[in-house]
Amino acid sequence: MIALLMKILLANPRGFCAGVYMAIDVVDQLLDICQGETIYVFHEIVHNRHVVARFERRGVVFVESINDVPDGAIVVFSAHGVSPAIRREAQAKKLAAIDATCPLVTKVHAEAIRYARKGFQILLVGHRQHQEVVGTLGEAPDAIQVVERPSDIAHLVIHDRERLVYLTQTTLSLDDAGVIIEALKKAFPAIKEPPVSDICYATTNRQTAVRAIAPNCDLVLVVGSANSSNSVRLTEISMNCGTPARLVDDRTEIDPKWFVGVETVLVTAGASAPEDLVHDLIEDLVRTYGAEVEQHDICHEEIEFGLPGTLKAVMRARGVDPVGRRIIRGDEGARLHEWFEQHNIPFRTIDLTVGGRSPLGIAKRG
Ligand code: SF4
Repeated sequence: MIALLMKILLANPRGFCAGVYMAIDVVDQLLDICQGETIYVFHEIVHNRHVVARFERRGVVFVESINDVPDGAIVVFSAHGVSPAIRREAQAKKLAAIDATCPLVTKVHAEAIRYARKGFQILLVGHRQHQEVVGTLGEAPDAIQVVERPSDIAHLVIHDRERLVYLTQTTLSLDDAGVIIEALKKAFPAIKEPPVSDICYATTNRQTAVRAIAPNCDLVLVVGSANSSNSVRLTEISMNCGTPARLVDDRTEIDPKWFVGVETVLVTAGASAPEDLVHDLIEDLVRTYGAEVEQHDICHEEIEFGLPGTLKAVMRARGVDPVGRRIIRGDEGARLHEWFEQHNIPFRTIDLTVGGRSPLGIAKRG
């Protein structure tokens, strides 16, 4: 039997993080200042099918090889970062390369370079095929070995157990990474760890919200694409809490069978999923199930990243002043209330933050 009055809990934070806002803004800005020129993006700018399709409709060309970019053209490196080999290929073709790598990924690259120079072997915890891991690995391929699971530890080639450090991909599950890190520490008690966790604030906060709310729900819906690491991790966190979870790109993928016996559903979104897709999905659920909506604020995020220097240089070269051209996120909370009012959907917010703020994600970056 399908519940006729369902409760929807909306997780906050959810959706776009500072790195994704910045990367999307880079392409938006280029479309604005380079009208008539084709903008090429190496790899998906962020891992979301809709974001990519929307840019494609505006003429952006996504490539998986630098060879597919014509000499001298503009190319954007995606939020996941690239290896030095890709940068060299771009240089050789005299491309105008704009780096939209998230600064928190760049931080991991810098740590890899620093430890490799000091003669450390680096154990990089992450998914071998993920674009971010490929990029970090490329910074010091002779010094880095990737660890995907605890069973990989037995196959590592270690020269000096006293000169080891582990780093991680930014978008891992805190639960899974914790298990691997514990196993590394057990196998190599002297292993160093990064000064600050490499798992980023956005991944941490979105997972914390799901972990806090999912146990009180019958179903979790995560808006995000299948190749989005942090979105997939949210479904895993929910299932670890004992609540079934589904990953959907948008409302068209919803299956009514999932709602049999469901009274409370948690809706969240991965860091690369646009908020309008969440709104569409909620609208459908409310229309179909007469649902009421409650946003649960677990923490508030205030991190913002400025436009990359490489983009500012292109702007200046074209006589465009970069000052004031950075993305303005505005008041998302006010917009959300406005949207619910316009759609006549009953909505309230429950503040579950500690002192109104989160211990995570409050630093502001220029
Ligand atoms: S998920 Fe984290 S590392 Fe990835 S773009 Fe967002 S802030 Fe940066």
